[in-house]
Amino acid sequence: MNVVILGSGAREHALAWKLAQDGATVHVLPGNPGIPGSVPSIDALDFPAVQQFCQEHDVQLIVPGSEATLAAGVTDFFAQTDIRVFGPTRQAAALESSKVWSKNFMQRHGVATGQAWTFRSDQVTEALAKAAELEGRVVVKYDGLAAGKGVYVCSSQDEVKAALDELVDLHTDWFSFLLEEKLVGPEISVMGATDGNRIRLLATSQDHKQLRAGDQGPNTGGMGAYCPVPFADDNVMAEVRRDIIEPTMRGLNASQFDFKGFIYFGIMLTPNGPKLLEYNTRLGDPEAEVLLPAMQSSLLDLITAALDGDLARHDVWQRPGHYAGVVLASGGYPAPKFPTGFPITGLDQLAPETLVFLGGVKAGAEAGQLVTGGGRVLVVVTHGDELNDAVQQAYAEIKKISFQDAYYRSDIGQRPSPILTR
Ligand code: ATP
Repeated sequence: MNVVILGSGAREHALAWKLAQDGATVHVLPGNPGIPGSVPSIDALDFPAVQQFCQEHDVQLIVPGSEATLAAGVTDFFAQTDIRVFGPTRQAAALESSKVWSKNFMQRHGVATGQAWTFRSDQVTEALAKAAELEGRVVVKYDGLAAGKGVYVCSSQDEVKAALDELVDLHTDWFSFLLEEKLVGPEISVMGATDGNRIRLLATSQDHKQLRAGDQGPNTGGMGAYCPVPFADDNVMAEVRRDIIEPTMRGLNASQFDFKGFIYFGIMLTPNGPKLLEYNTRLGDPEAEVLLPAMQSSLLDLITAALDGDLARHDVWQRPGHYAGVVLASGGYPAPKFPTGFPITGLDQLAPETLVFLGGVKAGAEAGQLVTGGGRVLVVVTHGDELNDAVQQAYAEIKKISFQDAYYRSDIGQRPSPILTR
């Protein structure tokens, strides 16, 4: 089958790698010079150009990598064609693209989540009064897509005030935002493929959002991930299914909109049980880079079964052991500007079983040379029987790769195991 993947990051590289293993012929639009099958001339948001490419190459399936194409309505655009898109319609993608809409969905369908209150941008005074009642221990969430920059976790009224001031400064137009009770506990990511009625889950995983070890420093797109999560055991997952996943599926079932695609549950394991922080309507990045290698069964078959509404008869198998993925980033990331264009060396020195998924890279001046071209340049992914084996191997391998000012976080997969209290 000919498949198009939309996007250009390391997640899209992992999708392309997995689907090629499953026997698909893969094109990545626009991709990057490190991903085989990339078509740099086509912008993923230029849907007529994507359609023309699909017609010329007999493509039957499109897999969007990021939220941008879903929020722009790629599924709706292709609905009138015979090309299938594995992702929700624009309306259903609001589960991710609008935090207010998503919170309403959770509340309406009894999904376990933090208490929250919605305000408009002209109700800052009312919001401050609510935050004061909660002694400033709230999370301020901008309603729209903000590329990870719309969430402020506050511990004091001063921090709430600063967050609201910044939101008002950043957004000149009218907007909505949530105040959510601040929860505590370790976070896990749970992802699956759904046909709107049923869901098949991939392994549990954990992201590392902050730039520096010990969860310090500014938030990034994610500095590394691993799977499965040892403390997300059968008891924890039984609660996650009962309190979060099953009510969500009942909600999707009851909704008018069509949701066939990946769904991501960002979950906090609090002393009062698992609580849903957010939905995403696509795979996480860098979680996908460990989850897809960990998946033993065919992703292509899973996607096809979901699109056919046939998940009842489809199972997903995971490979035994653990996978760790460490991001190698450009020095200066995640600041808005940092130098790029540095040659990347050492990729040919890696052990044969090590995987590398390339994201922020460009073609260098010499034939076949790759240079840095973005913040998160690549992800090194390794396997081990125990999590620690996978992690040690990832660090041994990443040291072989170099470019000027390369940076990686030194503690991926090494958070102390939490004691989950109930
Ligand atoms: P992403 O980049 O993962 O899509 P996002 O910007 O859409 O994130 P959320 O996932 O809702 O936003 O929140 C980002 C982070 O903020 C969470 O991973 C979590 O660490 C923290 N957070 C969110 N909600 C809460 C909460 N109610 N209590 C404590 N921390 C929270």
